[in-house]
Amino acid sequence: MAKHEKLIFIDLETTGANPIVDRITEIGIVEVQGDQVTRWSTLVNPEVPIPPFIQNLTGISNAMVASAPVFAELAEDLLERLRGGLFIAHNARFDYGFLRNAFKAMGVSLRADVLCTVKLSRKLFPEEAKHNLDILVQRHALKVEGDRHRALADADLLWQLWSKFRRDIAPETFEQALAQLLQRPSTPSHLDADVLDEIPDTPGVYLFYGENNALLYVGKSVHLRQRVLSHFNGDHRLFQDMRMSQQIHRLEWRETAGELGALLLEAQLIKDRQPIHNRALRRQRDLCAWQLRAQEDGTSQPVLVNAAEVDFGSAEGLYGLFSSRKKAENSLREIADTHELCHALLGLEKGQPGKPCFGHQLRRCRGACCGKESKLLHQARLEAALAGLKLATWPYPGAVALIEKGAGGKTEEAHVVHNWCYLGSACAESDVWSLLERSPARPAFDVDTYKILVRALAKKQVKVRPLPSRPEQAAA
Ligand SMILES: [Zn+2]
Repeated sequence: MAKHEKLIFIDLETTGANPIVDRITEIGIVEVQGDQVTRWSTLVNPEVPIPPFIQNLTGISNAMVASAPVFAELAEDLLERLRGGLFIAHNARFDYGFLRNAFKAMGVSLRADVLCTVKLSRKLFPEEAKHNLDILVQRHALKVEGDRHRALADADLLWQLWSKFRRDIAPETFEQALAQLLQRPSTPSHLDADVLDEIPDTPGVYLFYGENNALLYVGKSVHLRQRVLSHFNGDHRLFQDMRMSQQIHRLEWRETAGELGALLLEAQLIKDRQPIHNRALRRQRDLCAWQLRAQEDGTSQPVLVNAAEVDFGSAEGLYGLFSSRKKAENSLREIADTHELCHALLGLEKGQPGKPCFGHQLRRCRGACCGKESKLLHQARLEAALAGLKLATWPYPGAVALIEKGAGGKTEEAHVVHNWCYLGSACAESDVWSLLERSPARPAFDVDTYKILVRALAKKQVKVRPLPSRPEQAAA
């Protein structure tokens, strides 16, 4: 507290809820410095009409603001009032966001420590579910002076609320709550702190760039803003370990309709652009799988194949996946031993036709190598033993669009997928076709994308719309 010269209880009335397009119509401030309490308020000419619904809600009409000063005329005075103060508001992000944008339009960057009384109330009374101002007025028997929903009356209620807290709550408890709420994320020193305020809290993917635009890290979240900030709060062990935070010079984000879109985009960006720190987190993959290939005698033998030789997206009879040859061989060996299968027939050791393999001598093989078990039975047992590793075959005749409804940012996205490969997402029908047209004949298989899609299809969390193989067919 000592670091703030004064407390600024502030409330704004606006033409709507969007700080980017809507405008301020009234500002109310209760300024508290020591024992001195100063009340100040002004109407603001928003230079746009106030919607009738908002006029009803706030009681501020177009006629009332017509002769009021515009924001630019008030800015200098307002900035002086705010200077050195703790900015206190109910849903502070709303009021602070509006003011920041209004100042920004004039080329002024507003910087203040901000305290939200919703968060403060929630912290002090965690057992209560609601913390809107009407509820708090009742709960703490605050006295409404003037019109509720006018800026100064609401700012005054915040000052009353604050005073009530100071009287009723043990000073240590109160100070501790304040300290926690005012703890600022330590923004990376190279990063423009203003950018952080612009990140939406929607699902999406974020990209951290370092010096010379090197891509450091790609991450995803259903709450972009929260997640990005958590990196700088030191909540993330990963970031502490890597000291990445201080390497960040720039950040970007892409909103998605939902979690699936974020997962797919993240996997794609990591695969295509190999960010430095994601790469360090994953082992380099030499992705491979066992493929059962038919032999002349009607049985089949597992052959180790990698993604360069075989299209994992469309091939059948694949078992895996394994991140290295060694892992694939160890896994097959283990399965063979568990199920008393023959290492020689599986190609895991060199056998001589008709002669018992080494494992049979140790009674680890039932003897398909030397006629003691039929090869067809061995074959059937092998397939049963491998069943758990079988890769899902792409269940559609061609490409499909997975339709994901939006939870926040975008309302709906179509994720275009073919043979387990993600070709991109589109918001409009025409974009779906251009994604299909632009996609390579055989897109590269990616194990993460495969797993994401298998899970999403199993959970039936999205609607699947099959796409004709050529756009002309759709038009017909
Ligand atoms: Zn054998």
